Amino acid sequence: MNYKSKFGFGCMRLPQTDENDPTKIDQDLFNDMVDLYIEHGFNYFDTSYAYHNGVSEVAIRKAIVERYPRESYQICDKIPTWALTCEEDNDKYVNEMLERLGIEYFDVLLIHNINTPWFNLAENAKSFEYVKNMKEKGIAKRIGFSFHDKAELLEKVLEKYGDLLDVVQIQLNYLDWEDPSIESGKCYELCVKHGLDVIVMEPLKGGVLINSPDSIQDEFKKFNPDKSIASFALRFAASLDNVKIVLSGMRKMDDLVDNIDTFENFEVLSDEEHEFLKRMAKKLDENVAVPCSECGYCIDACPEMIPIPEYFTLYNISKNRPAEDIYRLYFDKLADEKVHAAECTYCGTCLDFCTQQIDIPEELEKVCEHFETGFSPYAGAP
Ligand code: SF4
Ligand code: SF4
Repeated sequence: MNYKSKFGFGCMRLPQTDENDPTKIDQDLFNDMVDLYIEHGFNYFDTSYAYHNGVSEVAIRKAIVERYPRESYQICDKIPTWALTCEEDNDKYVNEMLERLGIEYFDVLLIHNINTPWFNLAENAKSFEYVKNMKEKGIAKRIGFSFHDKAELLEKVLEKYGDLLDVVQIQLNYLDWEDPSIESGKCYELCVKHGLDVIVMEPLKGGVLINSPDSIQDEFKKFNPDKSIASFALRFAASLDNVKIVLSGMRKMDDLVDNIDTFENFEVLSDEEHEFLKRMAKKLDENVAVPCSECGYCIDACPEMIPIPEYFTLYNISKNRPAEDIYRLYFDKLADEKVHAAECTYCGTCLDFCTQQIDIPEELEKVCEHFETGFSPYAGAP
């Protein structure tokens, strides 16, 4: 099996010139990263209508479409399911996606983020029939959907539409393999049962696996000082036979260099390594307060504009390292400069958008409680 061909360039988290503005992509750095990636024989790019507020597709046009022959790379793009109000909307968005990218066909066309409420939207807009039609017309070479829900819904979708499709993009990593709200393992097995190829997203759970507490990082170093935590996570996913692509979002050149090394010198995960990752998953599970992947979908959905993932990141860090600088970030950078977590009105709008099935209002309440109960700024930081 050619494991090298499994390394896909995820374009949901591109390098930015302004970390607070997702539309400010560092195009020069992205171009350099694309050049190195292609130079090393890789060719798969994954984007969506929504990534970087629509600018990811434009950055791909500039970095790849305008600089490389069409047959030398593959592009996967996704229709924004949450925005579909009628059948005609499929065409509206797909035409816009093709225009932003500057291409005439997709190598892979997916219906984005199928979960319980948005499966209904996709069905109402006849999106599964639509992508099939796009394949027949040659506008999409391969078709499928990306999925963010439990195995029970996946089974229902595949029973109904599996025969029409080629691929499913699922969240898969060693922390979520047996997680009851993600069920990566069961979802993978369902795709195998239906004979569908699997594209893996969030192999690092948006950084949760690599930004782990020091005690876990130390265990990885002891286990194998020469390999990064990311390399273990990518090999965990890519070692599975039905996994054809493992996406990695890379903000830095160093991340890309490390990933190239992982796939150019690929080794299937051994039994000993599997056991080690299982242990690390258990430890991590006990240490992560909110399993937010920082995907950012909830931010635009929140009418109060609460910077939700930033609160969850600080909360996770503070649970493991309750230091004054973290409290300063909470009070000064978020609660003061942005929007206080206590502004949450419990409207629930964000819930459908959460790719990790987090009860966001409930967790925000815990964030407030953690940082504010019985605490006066800085003086009392543990
Ligand atoms: S429940 Fe709270 S965090 Fe979620 S969208 Fe409503 S106000 Fe924003
Ligand atoms: S709370 Fe959910 S939707 Fe928001 S960034 Fe985290 S994982 Fe993504």
